[in-house]
Amino acid sequence: MGGRVLSVASECVPLVKTGGLADVVGALPAALAVTGWDMRVLLPCYRALKAQTAGWPVVWEEGDLWGGPGRVLAGTVAGVPVLLLDAPHLFDRDGGPYSSLQGEHPDNAIRFAALSWIAAQIAREGLADWKPDVLHAHDWQAGLAPAYLAYHGNGGCKSVLTIHNIAFQGWAPGHMLGILRLPGHAFHTDALEYYGGISSLKGGLVTADWITTVSPSYAAELMRPEFGMGLQGVLAARGPVVSGILNGVDTSVWNPGAEEPPFGPKSLAGKVSARASLCQEFGLDVPGPLAIVVSRLTDQKGIDLLPAVVPDFVLGGGGLIVLGSGDPGMEAAMRNLAARFPGRVAVRIGYDESLSHRLFAGADAVLVPSRFEPCGLTQMYGLRYGTLPVVSLVDGLADTVIGANPATLAAGAATGITFHPVDTLAFGQALTQLLVLYRQPKLWAKLRSNAMAHPVGWETSAAAYAALYERLTG
Ligand code: ADP
Repeated sequence: MGGRVLSVASECVPLVKTGGLADVVGALPAALAVTGWDMRVLLPCYRALKAQTAGWPVVWEEGDLWGGPGRVLAGTVAGVPVLLLDAPHLFDRDGGPYSSLQGEHPDNAIRFAALSWIAAQIAREGLADWKPDVLHAHDWQAGLAPAYLAYHGNGGCKSVLTIHNIAFQGWAPGHMLGILRLPGHAFHTDALEYYGGISSLKGGLVTADWITTVSPSYAAELMRPEFGMGLQGVLAARGPVVSGILNGVDTSVWNPGAEEPPFGPKSLAGKVSARASLCQEFGLDVPGPLAIVVSRLTDQKGIDLLPAVVPDFVLGGGGLIVLGSGDPGMEAAMRNLAARFPGRVAVRIGYDESLSHRLFAGADAVLVPSRFEPCGLTQMYGLRYGTLPVVSLVDGLADTVIGANPATLAAGAATGITFHPVDTLAFGQALTQLLVLYRQPKLWAKLRSNAMAHPVGWETSAAAYAALYERLTG
């Protein structure tokens, strides 16, 4: 089968990125192509993107887009078929996609309503030679696109909304209802009214034909008050059309065979020498497992648990390298650990893509003690690099790592170590388990080969999205 999908988002790799949303939006078109689904990505033409559009044909024109005209330019960037909404009065300005040095752009509600409006127009009417079967909206910035289809006619186009981060919900005051071209009847709590205003994410949640999140467990968690951030009831009410589809990782970028020195499941000498280089670079001498943390240093990531569990881990022979930045108190706590355990614990505060590759190549384990994790990427890098993930059993982490226990070890299925609840007792026990497993070379080798065989690429996810589109249009 197959068909056409208009993906609409505020970010897309390699054009514009502030977070994981951009990776997903940028990876999907190529991953879907092999399934027969032809995806094009509609994005705002931010100032920094304008230079790339020279010579691109205009495929859509809109006379009145909230205070000025808009037009859509079509092109291809790094293999991604892109539609850029060129509306200078909304997008040709200083700063990032959402803010300038002065703070958030004050007209964000209108800027992203305009993006959603054009997405709905194209979905409903089609371009001259390309009519989408499905509109796939991402996060609050595109949340009104399914709403516009629902309230102004969908022209036979189905809609999917994906939640990458429920913390951002796109709120605007209620008096903007008409300005945002939304009908009066939509302003009630069963539709897009939210705390007396308008939430574009909620608008999408109540109108989309299907809703996805970036892992099946996160989909379930979002229906609970602890994680739904106010929208749990809306999601629960739409439960039958909510599902989770895991993100993949770019296996050409995260490829042990492309590291220096290269290694793979059957040739681990490169990993051994990467470990030695790492220990030398950081002045470490670690008889037991060398663990890493590559993360934002925040409460969500459970970094505050480390000071309590690392001393026993070090005493048992383990070592740790932390790469990250974030909460100043947590940065200081990480520095203290390094000062307390010289030769065993090292810390690098900052963001360093190339170091993070070397860490995954050389380490034995990656620690991810998150309190919640919509999908999570570092545990998947760990799997691919044979750097065993030690993760809390939440959301996307629970969906990607098979924790070692008597049953999974007997079945030869374990790919890492899992723990729950997210506290120092359970985390400490997981690190003890890491020390014990590391002392059993045969078992350790089996775990590592299981981990490296676990599929983390986009193929599975793309097939799941394709199956969803088929179901909606079939
Ligand atoms: P989140 O998006 O919540 O921060 P994810 O695990 O989904 O968590 O993605 C985080 C990404 O950022 C991963 O690719 C991770 O390797 C990377 N990352 C985080 N901190 C650093 C850092 N200090 N240096 C290099 N890469 C980092």
